[in-house]
Amino acid sequence: MLNRRSETVKMTGKFKIKENVEIDRLFKIYREIVNYLINYAYENNITSFYKLKSKTYRNLREKYPNLPSHYIYTACQIATSIYRSYRKKKRRGEARNKPVFKKDSIMLDDHLFKLDIEKGVLKLSTPKGRITLKVYVSNYHMKFKDWRTGQAWLVKKDNGIFLNVVFSREVEIGEPKDFIGVDLNENNVTIALPNGFARFETREREIRTAYYVKRRKIQKKIRAGKKRKKLLEKYGKRERNRLNDLYHKLANKIVELADGYGIALENLKNIRKSIRYSKEINGRLHRWSFRRLQSIIEYKAKLKGIKVVYVDPSYTSSLCPICRGKLSPNGHRVLKCMRCGFEADRDIIGSLNIRLKALKMWGVSVPPESPSMKPERGRLAVIINTYNKSYG
Ligand SMILES: [Zn+2]
Repeated sequence: MLNRRSETVKMTGKFKIKENVEIDRLFKIYREIVNYLINYAYENNITSFYKLKSKTYRNLREKYPNLPSHYIYTACQIATSIYRSYRKKKRRGEARNKPVFKKDSIMLDDHLFKLDIEKGVLKLSTPKGRITLKVYVSNYHMKFKDWRTGQAWLVKKDNGIFLNVVFSREVEIGEPKDFIGVDLNENNVTIALPNGFARFETREREIRTAYYVKRRKIQKKIRAGKKRKKLLEKYGKRERNRLNDLYHKLANKIVELADGYGIALENLKNIRKSIRYSKEINGRLHRWSFRRLQSIIEYKAKLKGIKVVYVDPSYTSSLCPICRGKLSPNGHRVLKCMRCGFEADRDIIGSLNIRLKALKMWGVSVPPESPSMKPERGRLAVIINTYNKSYG
């Protein structure tokens, strides 16, 4: 690693708070204020935070004289963003009625709260002054004790009141000489290393299909109502938890492999690539999936000082990594270069192309004859890792 550069890592921590009557009141007042502000923005067509605040501030102060003023600021932020997205939808012809804020959530800025993780104490500004609340802290939360606290949300759920805090920390990122290329696929993650390849079979499609079938059964059995909604939510949550768990394990493995290198991922923001999604599973979930996995890889890597770059995904699965010739299918999942004869598994090629793109843009140049870049047919050092057992 040559130079080091400072970067910010952000993570959200979730804390359960002991129930309290004052907070219950606060949720109600806050919702009233946000809805008053949305209404005002709607009637007067105001999309600017400052304008909305200056037009309504005096009124709100009079109506809620004991409420700390920063609640009005954050309520203005929420109202502005809700009204803006309503206008956007309206322009596209998707908006229905005037928007209403129905959530039990309160946005907090750093004037409104102070969290002491080690003591398990939250100090919160309320109309009754600063109150002290008990926060349930586990080992998991301790890692945040030296982080900076940013914006936070108080959220009321069926199972209690939570404080979600955005923490941030500066990390020193090394400038790597080489990268590993990570190709995310529906059923596996394939990684091009400087000295070989690694693959993790994830069987994600099977997990998804199983949950899809479960949800369909519920939908057929129970036509409508609360019970149906509850059950669907339960299985949706279970699926997300299971995938999250899988992603954390995968990310740990990938970061381990990246020791001493940087990590190259595909920029998936505006592409459809050639991933053939199974039809029954919707694409929105897939995009959520890949981006979720990428963000977990990214923060875990940064916390270890590992650089993460995003490469343009075009042609990563259609051009030869050796000679840039056009690749053609040659059997199941195998691609062959018509120009130089290079042939390999399509995910291997994908990961190698991602790695080479990163090297070209951010790495120290390596001549293309380098043995590490010209894996001979049938001699690829592929390490296969499977998670099948835990997901059977
Ligand atoms: Zn070729």
